[in-house]
Amino acid sequence: APGLYIVATPIGNLGDLSPRAAHILSHAGVIAVEDSRVTAGLLRHIGIKRPMTPYHDHNAEGVRPGLIARMATEAVALVSDAGTPLISDPGFKLVRDARAAGHLVVTIPGPCAAVAALTLAGLPTDRFLFVGFLPPKAGARAAAIAEVAGIRATLVLYESGPRLAATLAALAEGLGDREAAVTREITKRFEEAVTGTLTSLAARYADAPPKGEIVVVVAPPGDPEAASDADADTALAEALTRLS
Ligand code: SAM
Repeated sequence: APGLYIVATPIGNLGDLSPRAAHILSHAGVIAVEDSRVTAGLLRHIGIKRPMTPYHDHNAEGVRPGLIARMATEAVALVSDAGTPLISDPGFKLVRDARAAGHLVVTIPGPCAAVAALTLAGLPTDRFLFVGFLPPKAGARAAAIAEVAGIRATLVLYESGPRLAATLAALAEGLGDREAAVTREITKRFEEAVTGTLTSLAARYADAPPKGEIVVVVAPPGDPEAASDADADTALAEALTRLS
């Protein structure tokens, strides 16, 4: 049916493209892509050819109205280079405007580096805050870290190898020396998760910036093993029983 289809694609392992994602891509009238070379590789992998049109931060304003118009008569698929569109990637304005124009909006969920990293880190997942990329400049970075320091949630950040050690040191400085995990090359050949305190991880990577794509996961403030509210209630009830 005509409309907008948000299609998640693999973050490394092409086997992670879902059958439903492949079906939608095969039938799309046009695929809005970040980089046509990247998406062409994915389409080759599933043995299809579909028209592609670039949609990225630099041309989005200009091409959005045309894409919205096409949704009246065609299935328009949106993909990013890797993972879930809209997550540190373009797309939310396309969804907003498609909805405002009354078009069908459908999501085909799948790989997302942030969620995959949470599953590898071994840190609490009941509450998490997706921080995305921190600002590259030290001052703005420190301010962004200060803003989330008091939040009782696991933090998830995207980062690049060359900046990793500086970011870990800035996190230790702004958050205290919390437990953390550096996850890397998820779903690829050299997938790994290295855990430790922020300062130990900063030291580990200071002289050896890792290659590949990275997600940093940081424990919430306080002891990650600390009793939950439910545990606290139970303990209180027990204490009261002993008193009576
Ligand atoms: N939309 C994507 C998603 O759903 O995860 C994220 C796009 S963002 C522009 C790219 C960043 O995601 C990378 O710099 C890295 O931090 C993270 N990332 C993407 N693929 C990854 C992978 N296979 N392993 C670890 N991190 C990855």
